[in-house]
Amino acid sequence: SARAAARFHAVEESATYAVFDMVARMRARGTEVVDLGGGEPDFDTAGHVVDEAMGALRDGFTHYTPSRGLPALLRAISAKLAADNGVTVAAATDIVVTPSAKHALFAALVTVLDPGDELLVPTPSWVSYSEMARLIGARPVQVALDGADGFRITAELLERHVSGRTKALLVNSPNNPTGRSLTAGEAAVIARFAQEHDILLISDEIYEKILYGGRRHLSLAAQPGCAERTITVNGFSKGYAMTGWRLGYAAGPTDLMAQLVKVQQHTVGCTASFVQRGGIAALTGSQEPVEWMTAQYTARRDLLVRGLNSLPGVSCSPPDGAFYAFADIRGTGFADSATFARWLLRETAVAVMPGSAFGPGGEGFVRLSFATSPEVLRSALERMARALADRG
Ligand code: PLP
Repeated sequence: SARAAARFHAVEESATYAVFDMVARMRARGTEVVDLGGGEPDFDTAGHVVDEAMGALRDGFTHYTPSRGLPALLRAISAKLAADNGVTVAAATDIVVTPSAKHALFAALVTVLDPGDELLVPTPSWVSYSEMARLIGARPVQVALDGADGFRITAELLERHVSGRTKALLVNSPNNPTGRSLTAGEAAVIARFAQEHDILLISDEIYEKILYGGRRHLSLAAQPGCAERTITVNGFSKGYAMTGWRLGYAAGPTDLMAQLVKVQQHTVGCTASFVQRGGIAALTGSQEPVEWMTAQYTARRDLLVRGLNSLPGVSCSPPDGAFYAFADIRGTGFADSATFARWLLRETAVAVMPGSAFGPGGEGFVRLSFATSPEVLRSALERMARALADRG
């Protein structure tokens, strides 16, 4: 529309919402869609978290809270960052509780990027980072990682894309869509790069609780020299199965958070009061539901990856974390991942995300979510096996 601001010319609609809407339309017409396109846990939020929020509502805890968040939640987040992540932040000054990690990311980008500034985004990546940068008039610089190299972040790739306008690097580990998690070597490379070029780091750690094979999560803010230049973003959607609650946070250096809180004050004001009470229960209560869900994801991951590798022309390495399989479909003979995904949806009513939607480096792959039941995964695999066989 010519009436919208000029910066929208470059902003794409969310590709994940496009698949989401398409699935909804097919279901409305009566088609039984097997949806592996989305990115949300199928589990219900733990009972003790729900009870706390409902109690808060009943007690009339329905008013504004401080813009940064409830002091008890800020303290719980500070304690969690120290214990789980080796990150030291003061509850009173270094954390802002936001309605979703998505809003925390947006607030962080508004805080650090001026129009024209460059944001390094290793890709394939979650679809919103680059569009958020564009929405605020900054320039995303996509750093295409190499699938043949396991989508590893290397010094050479970062050096090739850095410029005098580079303000920040956005890192997501465990990664959506690749399922990769940072190794100690990669974290050291990123820390050295950020220091040498004096750039800020934004670390999206929303999938930290969902890691497989005994892997340990590495927080960038805990790397040497990084505490002073890293905004850590996290939330409750994935690990605690709380997508609809909209609850996340940003944590980082005091001076940056003093600015970030202004974004919050002048946009949403604060995060929903009773939702924050649920967040306190999630962090301070039993972590057993989190461990149980991760065990379920582990079994589903193994089921899906094994099935994918038995399909003709498809190969898939097991993800380190998050709940996505990123499968290489180049052997199937389709022109590209979008053509493959469209064919699959039309022929089998199985919805997956084309890798090209996640930016450079994603072509040739499709993302399949296993945040869904084993029965659904088995059905998807059967439908895919039949359709690929029929195709000859
Ligand atoms: N970051 C990544 C990598 C995600 O995949 C998602 C959700 O899809 C988010 C952030 C946003 O999470 P939230 O529900 O807290 O906005």
